[in-house]
Amino acid sequence: MNQLRTISQIIEPQTAIEGAGVRLLRSIAPKSSNLFDPFLLFDHFAFNDPLEGPLRGFPMHPHRGIETVTYMLEGATHHRDSLGNAGLIGPGDVQWMSSGRGILHEEMPRRGPSGNIYGFQLWVNLPSHLKMSEPRYQEVTAATIPTYEKDGVRIRVVAGTVDGVTGPVTDIAASPLYMDVELAPGIEWHFPIPGGHTLITYVFQGEGVFSGETIDAVKMVKFSEGDHIMVKTENNPVRFMLMAGAPFKEPIVPYGPFVMNTLEEIQQTLKELRDGTFIKE
Ligand code: MN
Repeated sequence: MNQLRTISQIIEPQTAIEGAGVRLLRSIAPKSSNLFDPFLLFDHFAFNDPLEGPLRGFPMHPHRGIETVTYMLEGATHHRDSLGNAGLIGPGDVQWMSSGRGILHEEMPRRGPSGNIYGFQLWVNLPSHLKMSEPRYQEVTAATIPTYEKDGVRIRVVAGTVDGVTGPVTDIAASPLYMDVELAPGIEWHFPIPGGHTLITYVFQGEGVFSGETIDAVKMVKFSEGDHIMVKTENNPVRFMLMAGAPFKEPIVPYGPFVMNTLEEIQQTLKELRDGTFIKE
């Protein structure tokens, strides 16, 4: 490891309203500039005030050309879809959904025992040759996500490998690392990241020194090219989602819940929705 990845951008998450009026914190959203390739969107659901009114969710909506990754820490999300799948994504669970050519689904958050809902949704792009592939789910329950734990470092490994501990989500086109990393105070952590891969971290608790710069929650951080990351903690612990993946370097045309490569493909998608041919048997 000889080229440290430095911080290239710090993003302050912005409040956004999505679905049927769900308030969330959004750090990145699909844009044709594709600056976070292969990552498209990162949303943070944090409902910590049980008095904030009735819970609204994301009623039936389509997706094509992307993967949506839901990771819940508190509360749950009930989902059901056009393929006949239904279930509850609970605390510590992950649903890695590859929409491929298309699904229609509903995602409805539910409060946990303390009244809170806390979780993340990441969108990962699909390369052009997989945008019209068969939809696929990887449902991962909390118990099957391994935890790497050593010397004040605690990592839930969803996708990728940490020192021989490999996450259960596999066969994803972007070859992603997706990990929930917690560092105790007074730690210096070095971690290899494949060269050429995009690296972002979402710092959501505490504070740490990322490649020499102090970052406190809540921030999205993008890193420069290099072969490793270094995070130090001083008096406080830090917790962040680490996301890395291979960019596809293809043009993208995002349109709401669809991300395709050309405008014609978006127009075709909208036509199929109108014609009732969007869902393929
Ligand atoms: Mn969705």
